[in-house]
Amino acid sequence: MRRKLAAGNWKMNGTGAALSELEALAKGHPAPAVDILICPPATLLNRAAQALSGASIAVGGQDCHADASGAHTGDISAGMLKDAGATAVILGHSERREDHGERNEDVRAKARAAMDAGLTAVICVGESLAQREAANTLDIIGGQLSGSIPDQSTGENLVVAYEPIWAIGTGKVPTLEQIGEVHDFIRARLERRFGAGVGRSVRLLYGGSVKPDNAAGIFGVPNVDGALVGGASLKAADFAPIIAALE
Ligand code: PEP
Repeated sequence: MRRKLAAGNWKMNGTGAALSELEALAKGHPAPAVDILICPPATLLNRAAQALSGASIAVGGQDCHADASGAHTGDISAGMLKDAGATAVILGHSERREDHGERNEDVRAKARAAMDAGLTAVICVGESLAQREAANTLDIIGGQLSGSIPDQSTGENLVVAYEPIWAIGTGKVPTLEQIGEVHDFIRARLERRFGAGVGRSVRLLYGGSVKPDNAAGIFGVPNVDGALVGGASLKAADFAPIIAALE
């Protein structure tokens, strides 16, 4: 049985004042029936972990370097994220792929480092609008899965997030049939590569304009085990109803 997961990606948003949102979230969810993960900017990670100590809400990073340490100015290693209190890290988000030129092999190296450090890698995949309109969605996703996911993956150290690029921050959401098609495809690919045991235990999140008013419908789609939420994870008042829809 896969435990549901509601994950929030704060991206480059939030200073110390935003920690009050985490406190409100924790207060409203003393014993959640699902896993909750918040990925704040790196500057807030340790303070977020401290603000949530004793709460059932985990914190994670938004990226890590593939090396454990060294001359990489501005970068952060997986071990450093773990030391700051993270249990997971988002990798291969389309904004990292676009803004920083991350390729599948970069994502895979980072995911290996994350898993070696004891973190869960939340690996993002997703097609652009042009790729969807050219009927290339499954080819693109298949390539991202085989290129980005390391061999050492298990149901504990891997989560896959399907995030169509055209749905991120746009208010546009694929139909439930489109979400279901991609999630079924990802599940089948994971089972084929890792066997039924591991393949069925990896949690699959949908991400892209998930909001309180569309979450329940999306969570009703088979093989959707939760969501990776951007904008609507910034305020406890918006994220709480999404968590409730998953519970
Ligand atoms: C995201 O960036 O991971 C995301 C899903 O953003 P939003 O929910 O704002 O579309």
